[in-house]
Amino acid sequence: MRGIVAAASSAHGRQKPTLQKSGSISVRGADKILIPADNHLHTKLCGHAAGEIDEYLDRAAALGIREVGFADHFPLYFLPPDKMIPDYAMDESKLPAYVNMVKENAAVSPINVKLGIEADFVPGHEEELERLLAPYQFDFITGSVHFIDGWGFDNSAELEGYSSRNIDGIYERYFFLLQQAALTGLFDIMAHPDLVKKFNFRPACDLRPLYEETARAFKRAGVCVEVNTAGLRYPAKEVYPGPELLEVFHRHGLPVTIGSDAHRPEDVGFGLIEAVKLIRNIGYREIATFSGRKIKYIKI
Ligand SMILES: [Zn+2]
Ligand SMILES: [Zn+2]
Repeated sequence: MRGIVAAASSAHGRQKPTLQKSGSISVRGADKILIPADNHLHTKLCGHAAGEIDEYLDRAAALGIREVGFADHFPLYFLPPDKMIPDYAMDESKLPAYVNMVKENAAVSPINVKLGIEADFVPGHEEELERLLAPYQFDFITGSVHFIDGWGFDNSAELEGYSSRNIDGIYERYFFLLQQAALTGLFDIMAHPDLVKKFNFRPACDLRPLYEETARAFKRAGVCVEVNTAGLRYPAKEVYPGPELLEVFHRHGLPVTIGSDAHRPEDVGFGLIEAVKLIRNIGYREIATFSGRKIKYIKI
């Protein structure tokens, strides 16, 4: 997500699918797969995305996507004004404009357009976040961990942080924060739940106990997990969460939604056909979307 790096997409299906104009694919021996929704789109208001909102919606319409959710970056409420990171998230003053822009477009779009927001979790700032979110009628609130104790670990400008830390420790801390985020009860969806692998620094430790613990916390919190295809655009070359973690989430009965994390119109729907295939292979038969913070399901 941060530090937009345009990279070639990777299709990692076993059978090469044929992409059709409608956004559906034909795979020999399988049913036609459609992109049911894209629940993670950004807008230029965050400062690091490109294109106009109607270009995102036109792209979704061209792909035959019936529902989209905008989930732009909530202001960095946890930083003091003099420590703000420019172009990292929308400025607090832009939040009403964001809400209005999405609502106005939703009113005229042939696509079902949902108003979401992607908010960072930073421990100790929960009440502030709750207070700042309260005035708005979001369809869903997506919770993200992009910072580990002040370090923007998914920011390409802060890559040196990986060389001064223990990789296993980074993963442990990341999943701990993710669990804490879910347990605040502030979020409907947990975004890209293994974002920590973005730059492909992989741990030596066995991640399964952490995966189980995270799934248990998510279940207790009643959150939905996002299958986010942005990981295919970065060195990890894998969706977030990867198949092993997604299987654990499925076994714990957690609902899933899907999102491209598009920061430019051409990335709307990116990789979502592969994501739906993966989700089906794991055993899911529906994905979740949200209206007025209530979950509903679309068959896949
Ligand atoms: Zn972003
Ligand atoms: Zn994110």
